[in-house]
Amino acid sequence: MSLNRRQFLILAGTAGGAGLAFLAHQALTAGSRSPSPVVATSPESPSLAETTQVVKTAIAPKGLFAPVRGDVRIVVISDLNSAYGSTDYEAEVHQAIAMIPDWQPDIVLAGGDMVAGQSPSLSTAEIQAMWAGFDRYIAAPLRQAKLPFGFTIGNHDASGAVGLQGGFLFANERDLAAAYWNDPRHDPRLPFVDRAKFPFYYTFQQQDIFYLVWDASTSQIPPDQLAWAERALASATAQGAKMRIAIGHLPLYAVAVGRDSAGEVLANAEQLGAMLEKYKVHTYISGHHHAYFPGHRGKLELLHTSALGSGPRPLLNSSLPPYKTLTVIDVDLGSELTLYTTYNMQTLQVVDHKTLPRLIVGPTGRVLRLDIQESDLTAAEQTLTYTPS
Ligand SMILES: [Zn+2]
Repeated sequence: MSLNRRQFLILAGTAGGAGLAFLAHQALTAGSRSPSPVVATSPESPSLAETTQVVKTAIAPKGLFAPVRGDVRIVVISDLNSAYGSTDYEAEVHQAIAMIPDWQPDIVLAGGDMVAGQSPSLSTAEIQAMWAGFDRYIAAPLRQAKLPFGFTIGNHDASGAVGLQGGFLFANERDLAAAYWNDPRHDPRLPFVDRAKFPFYYTFQQQDIFYLVWDASTSQIPPDQLAWAERALASATAQGAKMRIAIGHLPLYAVAVGRDSAGEVLANAEQLGAMLEKYKVHTYISGHHHAYFPGHRGKLELLHTSALGSGPRPLLNSSLPPYKTLTVIDVDLGSELTLYTTYNMQTLQVVDHKTLPRLIVGPTGRVLRLDIQESDLTAAEQTLTYTPS
């Protein structure tokens, strides 16, 4: 089907917004290449005659499946690093960074592990060389594309692990990460609300979405930081935004083989999840597990990213082979709905969510796939228990 923009507008007038939105959604979920452009009406517009049409276009790098752009488009990448001390990245990272501008996102988010530290043998010069490599291959190209970069610190960037004496075990790595990020030449172009503890924990707001980033580089978020997070989420700024998104390196619950133990997930997940839900956080985005799983627990959506760099892992409760991912989130601010288009960055195909497990049961709790509700679970699924990987 090949229609020009005018024909699409005529089609919009006759078929109505709902039909076209459905069409667009069908194109998106089918996983096939969609026609471009696609026109949809905004949810508020009852008819073409009364209101202006909102034109939404399917956009992606050439040759890839193109999702229809939302009011806000977010590209999410995570776990970029290679072996300890590495100053370069695997091919998929280079390819993704080159492609990102062609999705025309409003912002790029990263789930942490941007460099490969957390080894006591790395010298200051070696750690600085890693951040220089990160800047050269990742941050600088995104700055040149004028893309804001929101990120959370991972255990390999600047671990928050604390020793018996109460001090940071990787204090030097934390100092060097802070020095890199606070250098004005490395400005991530974020509209900060609170940057007092940047780059470890901070908030920013962009296009009516409030973002909270916390330091989940270890399983324990300190009480003073949690109190800060609660104040930030309760603030008039956060509550006045159309949507709230939280980002941290460790997830609330385990989803990946080899990451299903204490220390690899946040402690007190129930309490943290309840706090995020209380303040109407739409989605918590995490890295560290190196396995893609779009999930939810209650009303809180949980986007578990795979690694874009080395070492993708298999999911628990699944026989799928591991793969590297990049996720495009298209946000509809009116309905507060998000639509994920996740690419397997080794094949450049869109991940079909139906091939993923309907639920994942970890040692501290279970996560349902985004499209599955508790009432959808079979008797066997309801009683499914955790099996160590
Ligand atoms: Zn990690």
